[in-house]
Amino acid sequence: MKVAVVEGDGIGPEVIPPACRLLEVIRPDIEFFPVEVGYGRWVRSGEAVTDEDISLLASADAILFGAVTTPPDPGYKSVIVRIRKELDLYANIRPVWGEGFDIIVVRENTEGLYSGIEKIEADSACTLRCLTRKGSERIARHACKLAGSRRNLTIGHKANVLKSDVFFRDICIGVAREHLVSFRECYIDSLCLDVLMHPERYDIIVTTNMFGDILSDVTAYLVGGLGLLPSGNIGDGHALFEPVHGSAPDIAGSDTANPIAAMRSAAMLLAFTGDEESSGLIEQAVKNTLACGIRTRDLGGTCGTKDFSKKVCNELIALLKCV
Ligand code: ATP
Repeated sequence: MKVAVVEGDGIGPEVIPPACRLLEVIRPDIEFFPVEVGYGRWVRSGEAVTDEDISLLASADAILFGAVTTPPDPGYKSVIVRIRKELDLYANIRPVWGEGFDIIVVRENTEGLYSGIEKIEADSACTLRCLTRKGSERIARHACKLAGSRRNLTIGHKANVLKSDVFFRDICIGVAREHLVSFRECYIDSLCLDVLMHPERYDIIVTTNMFGDILSDVTAYLVGGLGLLPSGNIGDGHALFEPVHGSAPDIAGSDTANPIAAMRSAAMLLAFTGDEESSGLIEQAVKNTLACGIRTRDLGGTCGTKDFSKKVCNELIALLKCV
């Protein structure tokens, strides 16, 4: 299996190498190749991401991605948004689980407010929120597949205000009925509060691009912060796995970033490619480390990124000796 690795900017180069190390330990057959995109690349060469980079990413069986900072040039669109669009990674899967709850946010990843149709003028600015039947149907189908017959689907929207969400909600309801998935609908603002107060009420939540982005950061509160949450960006031909967090420039270079989100993204990558067992072992290694009371600063501990990463890796090696 060939895995493209994008460390990116900010804390990306601190959290991705330890995640790769876990993959190397558990799956020595994986062939890694680096792809440099992002702000650092732009400073060095004037280009944050090129067509060749996209082709290189497309040639991998899966991509492990850190985080990129978009260059501060008004002509530049978000690098990760471009990659998601060009590889047609339409389903952003963001699981969050803990004591008594197990939620997956399924975020439409290629259209909505991130369609890129916008302009800014001296006295006005406009961003168009475009949703298509194709885009809405396929994300609803993906969510229904995850829900299956056992899990409930919640459709998050703002159809009381936005016509585009009437369109999205009605399509999701149609697809859920077709798939015999039990569903309910919820206004996204009250959903953001209710998911924090009663996380056990939720299973699979499907929503549009920006609402899903916000909702998954909100749900990070349930588990102690952004440093813990992985995600998958899935299309019909490609898949990219990345932490939910961004490049966190405020803590970059300080050895305080929590690498768990990146490690769990590597575990999601393995599960996606069919290796559930190795994926589960990475999760177990993370759990065992936390169970010893070892934590990075965002979780109230004192352990640095490098030491924490070494501890998880040693746990994984110990687990492998037992299987
Ligand atoms: P970007 O513009 O790339 O999205 P950002 O700084 O706007 O970056 P995040 O990177 O998501 O957004 O960071 C939000 C906050 O969460 C920051 O204060 C950051 O320090 C914290 N944070 C994010 N990831 C981690 C992590 N892995 N470990 C510890 N703290 C983190």
